[in-house]
Amino acid sequence: MNAEIICVGTEILLGNIVNTNAAFIASRLSGLGIACYNQCVVGDNMDRVIAQLAVSSERSDIVILCGGLGPTEDDMTKEAVAAFTKRRLIEDAESRRAIERFFENRGKTPTDNNWKQALLPRGAKAVPNANGTAPGIILETRKCKYILLPGPPVEMEAMFDTGIVPYLKELGNGTIFSQTVKIVGIGESRAESMIIDLIDGQTNPTIATYAKTSEVHIRVTASAESEKEAAKLVKPVVRELKKRFGGNVYSTKEEVTFEQSLVELLLSNDMTITCVESCTGGLVSAALVGVPGASDVFKSSFVTYSNKAKRKLAGVSKDTLDRYTAVSAQTAQEMAEGGAKAAGSDVCISVTGLAGPGGGTRKKPVGLVYIGCFVRGKVRVEEYHFSGDRNNVRMLAAKNALILARECILEYIDNK
Ligand code: ATP
Repeated sequence: MNAEIICVGTEILLGNIVNTNAAFIASRLSGLGIACYNQCVVGDNMDRVIAQLAVSSERSDIVILCGGLGPTEDDMTKEAVAAFTKRRLIEDAESRRAIERFFENRGKTPTDNNWKQALLPRGAKAVPNANGTAPGIILETRKCKYILLPGPPVEMEAMFDTGIVPYLKELGNGTIFSQTVKIVGIGESRAESMIIDLIDGQTNPTIATYAKTSEVHIRVTASAESEKEAAKLVKPVVRELKKRFGGNVYSTKEEVTFEQSLVELLLSNDMTITCVESCTGGLVSAALVGVPGASDVFKSSFVTYSNKAKRKLAGVSKDTLDRYTAVSAQTAQEMAEGGAKAAGSDVCISVTGLAGPGGGTRKKPVGLVYIGCFVRGKVRVEEYHFSGDRNNVRMLAAKNALILARECILEYIDNK
């Protein structure tokens, strides 16, 4: 079974928005073991969407269209599918009620245009939209199956996971089961080289690596008659991956983020954490606070952007700042020690660096960042060289600060 994705929207063609929907759908398809050989973008133009449908319907079992289900004139994906499959648009009573409820809950009145969203091509099935008014649509014809999804990612993603994934699973022969091994501290190419023998020999389960910001996710997917059998095929491969990547594996659960795993590590070791941040300006703290339940381990943090703040809030000595400057291992060390003392925490992450674009020198170029981590009396400081613009450097610094904290905490536990 193969699928293809058509994203509809002139704004995507013009580069005004990035086509994240295609990436999301493609990754879900691969997780389901459904081959996706083609993706394309078509502007908001009825004739061109119909022309694309003619091409896609010939070569794909499932054609997924995304965008253009809105109430306005330029939204015409549904109309194009109806015209191409020679079906009339008929109002779906349940979709009309859902639109009524959506507006009622917000104390608003729908416009005439909104009712247009309750129209479906004859024979189609509506897929509820939990976050908007346009229902998704599944239309099965003799030639192929069409899936129409709304454009806004918040609507499309929730709908895909709750309404489309179960449908696609049912279509498949047997069941797909997948599990993701999430690792940090190793780049994608090295990670791949460590398991190249497994990747080369793969059939069922399949193994795919995905690079994320300073993380690598390895998804193991198996297909079998039942979910239990597929899970049984996945299990030994996941075990082998855990063996090969050891402490670099932070989770094998789809829903667990790296930040969450760090908060859980702190909690399970009864540790509190604080941060003293310079160039990241609070990004590390924000990442921690983004985890529900962070209040059990995170009490306060310091943004010490200026030298004066580093001295006043984290107790960095004037002598260190004069002698080694603010962007130095020595300063990072004192920031980590001083922050832990000031907050009374077990762990303290410190970050000081040059995010650019200006301020770099030959000895201390833009992208140079020192990250320190204090864990119950012991401090480790590492030097990093990040590339990219100011935001990228700051983002990478924040992520790597959290990764270093995890390493230091694990080291501490090992040596206890
Ligand atoms: P609406 O009811 O909001 O009009 P729609 O289904 O008609 O929904 P579009 O009008 O095509 O969808 O897109 C609405 C918004 O959704 C776009 O302005 C854009 O922000 C986002 N969007 C659309 N397509 C994509 C895509 N492929 N990737 C990421 N975002 C997208």
